[in-house]
Amino acid sequence: MKFPFFDLTRQFPEIKNEVMTTFEKLLDRQALVMGDAVTDFEKNIAQWMGVKHAITVGNGTEALILALKVLDIGPGDEVITPAFSFFASTGAILYVGAKPVFVDVDAATYNMLPDQIEKMITARTKAIMPVHLYGQMAEMGPILEIAKKHKLRVIEDYAQSIGARDGDLVSGACGDLGATSFYPTKNLGAAGEGGMITTNDDALADKTRLIRVHGMRKRYIHEFLGTNSRLDALQCAYLSAKLPRLNRWVEMRTQNANRYFAELAPLTKLGLTLPKVGATKKHVWNQFIITVPERDRVKEILAERGVPTEIYYPFTIPEQAPLRGICEPAGWPTSEKLARTSMALPIFPELKSEEQTLVIEGLKHALESLARTETKAQLQPTAPF
Ligand SMILES: *Cc1c(COP(=O)(O)O)cnc(C)c1O
Repeated sequence: MKFPFFDLTRQFPEIKNEVMTTFEKLLDRQALVMGDAVTDFEKNIAQWMGVKHAITVGNGTEALILALKVLDIGPGDEVITPAFSFFASTGAILYVGAKPVFVDVDAATYNMLPDQIEKMITARTKAIMPVHLYGQMAEMGPILEIAKKHKLRVIEDYAQSIGARDGDLVSGACGDLGATSFYPTKNLGAAGEGGMITTNDDALADKTRLIRVHGMRKRYIHEFLGTNSRLDALQCAYLSAKLPRLNRWVEMRTQNANRYFAELAPLTKLGLTLPKVGATKKHVWNQFIITVPERDRVKEILAERGVPTEIYYPFTIPEQAPLRGICEPAGWPTSEKLARTSMALPIFPELKSEEQTLVIEGLKHALESLARTETKAQLQPTAPF
């Protein structure tokens, strides 16, 4: 039996009628750009999140780029960000001409280490860009404190963590600006590309609303340099159909995570590590990431049994070509270790129980057989006399 790592065709039937009806209405009216579908979605998602302003944009990467631009971050400025993330967080910093400065991540939560931030601050540092990786918020308590002490801005990359919380802190609503993505593989995915910037700051919200329409408040009067990055009305209507179901889908992801925790625990003695969820954290499980010894071999053994896994991410950011000449390729040991040993298990809401059983059994088989060959190798004499 073969099954997918992620499969949206299992989810679409649930929203199909609603989507088709609203799409037909919008298309009949040719209401394509801005308008009610956009403002309704922005109002509803802001309320759902618990943030004052939600401003949709073209995609998550543009959300990050525009957030940096709104804060006037560019050439000569430095932004502190984790060495282990999807490339977009660092890519956005480079794209506006600023310099990313990297800190390592925590081996158990995979999120940026706050206690490495302060020693990286220079006179050029303008902002911290934490990434709430895989569905769990970074340590925003200490990060916000450091930012306040050094008068730095905070831009949260919550592309993988919409709806995540840490006590009273809401992902995407505790920094100056939050940037998220509606790419189809995220917990709330559009029918294509999409992104959003969120903030509780009225002035920043106003500037963000203008930057996505060429800095234009009144028609053909451009107050400052912006660009075009609007989210289509059809995409907003699609997202509106999904939003009321998001909590339930996250609950299904959480149940899948809980089953992995319960049934993979015995494999920790064979070297598997499970992700750590902070006591005050609400994790939204965009990804379930484990580490195993001989990761590539384990992945192969699982694939032979039809069990799909992914690697997010096989390289650290400093190892990527655009960072050449900007920083050393190595020097973030936990990030480097995660790039070599971590793997993602299927966790999407509609994953079937019997499929999850195959993942668990496959891992057990892989780790036990690798442990056996290791013992055999150890028993063989290494050098003959
Ligand atoms: C997906 C993602 C992005 C970028 O979003 P796009 O909409 O694909 O541009 C940024 N950061 C992280 C951590 C992501 O996972």
